[in-house]
Amino acid sequence: MDEEEPEIEVVVYEITPKVITRVLGKTVIPDDEEHECWEWQGSRTYDGYGHVSVGGKLFLAHRVLYVVYKGEIPSGLVLLHSCDNRKCVSPHHLRVGTQAENLQDMHNKGRWRRKPHAQSKGTARDA
Ligand SMILES: [Zn+2]
Repeated sequence: MDEEEPEIEVVVYEITPKVITRVLGKTVIPDDEEHECWEWQGSRTYDGYGHVSVGGKLFLAHRVLYVVYKGEIPSGLVLLHSCDNRKCVSPHHLRVGTQAENLQDMHNKGRWRRKPHAQSKGTARDA
């Protein structure tokens, strides 16, 4: 697998109501929204992240939802998943961290697992 990396412009500071509506329209929010994964139903990037395209710009779904529910992501920081489910866009399963932490996190867990739907019990590893 040697996929070419597409040019992706990720804009997180211009999240409009239209973007939010598009993202929420493709997100399945479970009954237990704090603990269960929010399954993304829309398009995904080459590496598996849900996204919408609005006005020719690409918005990553989990980042949009994080900003909506939790607040701004400080520049230079990345979002870390606590549940290892790339289809999951739940802001409750995300926290901000550095890219170095992200790599360390993945290393600690061994590797990315790509389960279609992670079980909710015991996945909230965040302190
Ligand atoms: Zn999740």
